[in-house]
Amino acid sequence: MKYLSTRGQAPAKTFTEILLGGLAPDGGLYLPEEYPRVSQAELDEWRKLSYAELAFEVLSKFITDIPRDDLQAIVHKTYTAEIYCNARADSDASQIVPLRTLEPGLHILELSNGPTLAFKDIAMQLLGNLFEYALDRQHAELNILGATSGDTGSAAEYAMRGKRGIRVFMLSPHGKMSAFQRAQMYSLQDPNIFNIAVRGMFDDAQDMVKAISNDHEFKAKHKIGTVNSINWARVSAQIVYYFKGYFAATRSNDEEVAFSVPSGNFGNICAGHIARMMGLPIAQLILATNENDVLDEFFRTGVYRPRGTAHTYQTSSPSMDISKASNFERFMFDAIGRDAAKLCELWSRVDAGGEFDLKGTPYWDALPGFRFSSGSSSHQDRLDTIRAIWQRYSVMIDPHTADGLKVGLERRNPELPLICLETALPAKFEETLVEALGRKPERPAGLEAIENLPQRCEVMDADVAALKAFIAANAPKGDERVKKPL
Ligand SMILES: *Cc1c(COP(=O)(O)O)cnc(C)c1O
Repeated sequence: MKYLSTRGQAPAKTFTEILLGGLAPDGGLYLPEEYPRVSQAELDEWRKLSYAELAFEVLSKFITDIPRDDLQAIVHKTYTAEIYCNARADSDASQIVPLRTLEPGLHILELSNGPTLAFKDIAMQLLGNLFEYALDRQHAELNILGATSGDTGSAAEYAMRGKRGIRVFMLSPHGKMSAFQRAQMYSLQDPNIFNIAVRGMFDDAQDMVKAISNDHEFKAKHKIGTVNSINWARVSAQIVYYFKGYFAATRSNDEEVAFSVPSGNFGNICAGHIARMMGLPIAQLILATNENDVLDEFFRTGVYRPRGTAHTYQTSSPSMDISKASNFERFMFDAIGRDAAKLCELWSRVDAGGEFDLKGTPYWDALPGFRFSSGSSSHQDRLDTIRAIWQRYSVMIDPHTADGLKVGLERRNPELPLICLETALPAKFEETLVEALGRKPERPAGLEAIENLPQRCEVMDADVAALKAFIAANAPKGDERVKKPL
């Protein structure tokens, strides 16, 4: 299996060649040359598998340059309940991603059983083990640099803690994250994890990361890499749970289902699109946004109009507050028949701060096979949905999952079983739960007093030179490493 760039100007690469990189050299995103098709016989076989076994089968279609035994060991090491799962009281951890049935035909797929209580763990935990494996074989090191407003940073740190050859430098806005999120990250004492609290907003932290990403000399010298959501390995790991959810919600492989997906960067639902391209019988993909409804607007009207960071709202489903959905480019590439020249033309407008309108073009008329249902929700919708689900089913959901359920219930084809993806546990968003229900959500065992643990972080001004000095001091190069091991 080789990978090509959506912009059409980069040489084809293998999985491990793109694993540690970010964008393709032509500025595009990598996708498989073609999607593997899954046969009816394979679906019948896969229906019986455990999550780890299923993950191995799906991933081995995309990863053909890691020996099968090695890949199997990496996948099983990642998706073992004793290693992977948090101690959530009301869940069947042995299944990693269990399906919870609210009523016949209405389900929640539990994606937040990992160590940081959000679905990003599913891909990030695998990424940690893949990185360690690849770096080991290349006798190489990687310093991961990122900025987070919450979920991504903690998922990355819990995936990379203690890993050989890897250090994480994670910037977060000083005093802006919730007490729980702060505790999750800053209480990590692993010597390869560096938390940097920037005096400023998330965008200030993000700008510092961008400045370093554009400094190619510094980047190469200090082996700087990222783990952002455009990483292909993350998308591929997310394809697996669409298969798992489908098998759990159906009895045989001629049934069809609908999935509803709380969306921000379009990574999660892009994996659903790919599962469908592989032949999984998904009749309906429903995209849910919050007030930041750029993607909902596109699927309703054909106009793609990113708003820019100045016009991105801060909402009570913060992990969906994005101005530009980076993975959307992957989907559009498929939707316009993989016409790289056309994609470059559309994105030259987007990258210059503009927009495009597909309606009235042949591309829009050809889109139906790719069209998603979509909708958006408000803070009040989230509160109402959290309350309604609690009253009707005695189940607490988090604000992002509430966005997914609200839009899913509105847009679903009632003939189809609906599977709503749960993207975080309510314990991560206590304030909104208290506002909706007047009570705090339960925390998984062991996290009751996480805020009281000692915390470790470096507070810094939004100053790129200071950040560079900090990285240089803490990421020794080459033979220095021998003298000063991690
Ligand atoms: C990241 C995240 C999302 C959005 O997922 P995308 O892949 O960016 O679309 C939704 N909910 C939660 C809780 C998240 O952490």
